[in-house]
Amino acid sequence: MSPSRSAAVLLALLAGSAWAQTPTNEASEAAFTDPVTECTPANNFAPVAAAVAASSFPAIWLPVQSLLPNDSEGAAKFAAMSGSIPNIAPKGVLGVLNETIEDTYPAADPDCWWTVATCVTPKAPGVNPDIASVPEPNTLGYGFDDGPNCSHNAFYDFLSEQKQKATMYYIGSNVIDWPYQAQRAITDGHEICVHTWSHRMMTAFTNEQAFGELWYTIQAIKLVTGVTPTCWRPPLGDVDDRIRYIAQQLGLFTIMWKYNSNDWEVSAGSATPAQVQANYNALVADAQSGAFDTVGAIILTHELNNYTMQTAIDNYKNLSAAFKHIVPVGVALNQTQPYVESNYTQQTFEQYINNEAATPDINNEAATPGNSTGSDAGTGTAAAPGSSSTGSGSKSGSASSGEATGSSSAVSVSSFGLTSVVLGLCGIVACLL
Ligand SMILES: [Zn+2]
Repeated sequence: MSPSRSAAVLLALLAGSAWAQTPTNEASEAAFTDPVTECTPANNFAPVAAAVAASSFPAIWLPVQSLLPNDSEGAAKFAAMSGSIPNIAPKGVLGVLNETIEDTYPAADPDCWWTVATCVTPKAPGVNPDIASVPEPNTLGYGFDDGPNCSHNAFYDFLSEQKQKATMYYIGSNVIDWPYQAQRAITDGHEICVHTWSHRMMTAFTNEQAFGELWYTIQAIKLVTGVTPTCWRPPLGDVDDRIRYIAQQLGLFTIMWKYNSNDWEVSAGSATPAQVQANYNALVADAQSGAFDTVGAIILTHELNNYTMQTAIDNYKNLSAAFKHIVPVGVALNQTQPYVESNYTQQTFEQYINNEAATPDINNEAATPGNSTGSDAGTGTAAAPGSSSTGSGSKSGSASSGEATGSSSAVSVSSFGLTSVVLGLCGIVACLL
């Protein structure tokens, strides 16, 4: 074969390979098992491309500086609530805490600031308590922060094989980056909650910026998955009554935790795998000793990287043995309508544990990706679901460092062992910034 002919064949092979590896929908992306392929941006999901072209979203992975100039809907919603937001000063600038404020914060904890006081019972009037445990005894509220991880297929496959659903706390920037991966949560029947746009410290934003961090994540999830979440979790648990109120006015209730695996700290270098395993073991030991005989637990874990997902898989058997039930948080709260859209129904707790289908339809009539950016999103204030929790949470390490600010590595996980391929996610998404 001549050199020119060889080059042409090679080009054809490469082109064919590239074509064959480009997902065209959620199902084709979910079928990928090679993490490099999983984490190759598709850039072919038209609703996101159109929204980005129309400047309908802030720059991904950067803290929201203000509402967008063309966002009249967001501006109107913010204006409607801004006069009643608790008068608490931002505790830093653009999502970075001011350590001086942290160090001099009154011991009386006037703001119910979780980061320094692990407070989950608000002091401002009219603010709903956080959910930090689940009301069902011997039950674990199961969920994962920081997704969608681009290479989560093996992990989600594992959950599906176990018939296990969970609450997924998605970062808006990740949803824009990985729309097909976000859609998989709906396809698999997981519950999606908001985990902010840029994963910064929420109490260090102005009112408008905090609103934007939640609002644009709600819009992204609605655009990509067709559903509008009604729950959120603050990155690193950094919330006070001002932020709680803004979320509540956007229709979101706040989900915290009382058990922290600290799994994200391994990649940050501030925890060892042995320490994380000890955290998992402590939860199992508490369950075995009857600590959850009257009220269940919520644990903080992540789909941040290969290690956190593999560790979740490795511990699933022990958790399943220690708890009577492992369910999404919303299921434990009997949140049968987890989204604003009324035609998506989530199982009740009884239905879930009896493996019954919700009625009339558990799956997805509402999930029509590409709808307009959430014209019905964020209406009304969040009702306080289930019973309020008064437990104190455990701090999640350094309050000023982020778990997932766009620099995490995207890796692969396999139930057959680690097949990790580390990719520089920032390098991948740089073109989208
Ligand atoms: Zn997080």
